[in-house]
Amino acid sequence: MNSRLQIWHPFTQEAVDPPPLRVDRAEGVYLYTSDGRRLIDGISSWWVNIHGHCHPAIMAAIAEQTKKLDHVLLAGFTHHGVEELCSRLRRFLPAGLEHLFFSDNGSTAVEVALKMAVQYWRNSGRPKKQGIVALEHAYHGDTVGAMSVSAPSSFTDPFRSFLFPVHRVHSAYCFRCPVGKVRATCSIDCVDQLARLLEEKHDEIAAVIVEPLLQGAGGMIVHPVEFLQQVRRLCSEFDVLLIADEVLTGFGRTGKMFASEVAGIAPDLICLSKGITGGALPMGATACTSRIHDAFVSHDRSRTFWHGHSYTGNPLAAAAAVASLRVFEEEPVFDRIATIAQIHSARLEQLRGHEAVGDVRSIGTVGAVELYADDAGYLSKLKPVLYDFFLNSGILLRPLGNIIYVLPPYVITRDELNYIYDRIANSLEVVQELRAAGKHASGAAK
Ligand code: PLP
Repeated sequence: MNSRLQIWHPFTQEAVDPPPLRVDRAEGVYLYTSDGRRLIDGISSWWVNIHGHCHPAIMAAIAEQTKKLDHVLLAGFTHHGVEELCSRLRRFLPAGLEHLFFSDNGSTAVEVALKMAVQYWRNSGRPKKQGIVALEHAYHGDTVGAMSVSAPSSFTDPFRSFLFPVHRVHSAYCFRCPVGKVRATCSIDCVDQLARLLEEKHDEIAAVIVEPLLQGAGGMIVHPVEFLQQVRRLCSEFDVLLIADEVLTGFGRTGKMFASEVAGIAPDLICLSKGITGGALPMGATACTSRIHDAFVSHDRSRTFWHGHSYTGNPLAAAAAVASLRVFEEEPVFDRIATIAQIHSARLEQLRGHEAVGDVRSIGTVGAVELYADDAGYLSKLKPVLYDFFLNSGILLRPLGNIIYVLPPYVITRDELNYIYDRIANSLEVVQELRAAGKHASGAAK
């Protein structure tokens, strides 16, 4: 017997991070810990939980499904859950996305999209079109393909030699504009770099991958809709596929069901996960157009998409996902989303101009405050200080270094969300005290 087996926690540095909090149960917006605390889950447990924890309809759907079918492989078999999910998703997905491929999480949804894009061109007799274009500040997951398209960072550094090369182009990070413009007067000049690249190299490029409108882990960077619209226009003009990684932005996060819809565009491939099951069970999915799908249909078996995960299309996860989509139809989910969006805007405006605050930004249910810091970035020393401060205030927020963000389940009440913003306002005083003590932050550094 191995009596030394221990849990190795994700994104955790045991040498310095506090020990994990044990959670016994969760309900709505709250997590209840073994030591008797009640925490507001201000980040929807890594952005997955959209309708609140243990939503009765989702829990009941999973329980019901356990009586019928636990799991069956999806090669050569199908089942009611994936079929119903597919027909319900059809009502919401951007036009033209007509084929749905299941996987297990956000990273695999991205891997599938990348592989589909590359093989699509090969199957279409244009094997030179293999290149992938990705944005600065991107984050698409932790598997090797997803890391390759993510921006280089301390997450990816140890694996640099394993990552495939990509074309990296500017993102529309207006607060730190890559081309030195100001949003009020710019013409989305940051997209010119992509335009030049596609003009020159479109014969060698399979796809452009973006997190539409909101780059999440890269710093909750909100793009102007015109940026995404221009990217779509350029991809169409140069016959390059557009992959929208909506793993975070999907299922209402940015104010509509999908960020693509907010911008009025339709991608060629879309990656889904996180909120797809309402946050109850893992599931990934990649949808594509018939043009892409049909290039794989052939009597020549070498054109097959040879990809699949053991738990692909798991019936319990599918039941949860169907129940989550029903919640969208049966509850005033988009009213809740609009209320959150309105509170984000109002409360963030009050924080703008504070000495410690560089930028505030929001889209739909996501609000963010970028603090000045002389060690700006994911490893900023502000993070542990702020994380502890919020936990001690009864709130789970996990700042991305010097960027505090709020990404709550949609059932959060006005009072709960205002409470979070009151504590964020208090936290700025803590930041200023640290600054005065010359420890962590500096107003001079951006
Ligand atoms: N894509 C985006 C935009 C994400 O935000 C994430 C995770 O945060 C992923 C992909 C990876 O998802 P997962 O952690 O489920 O693999």
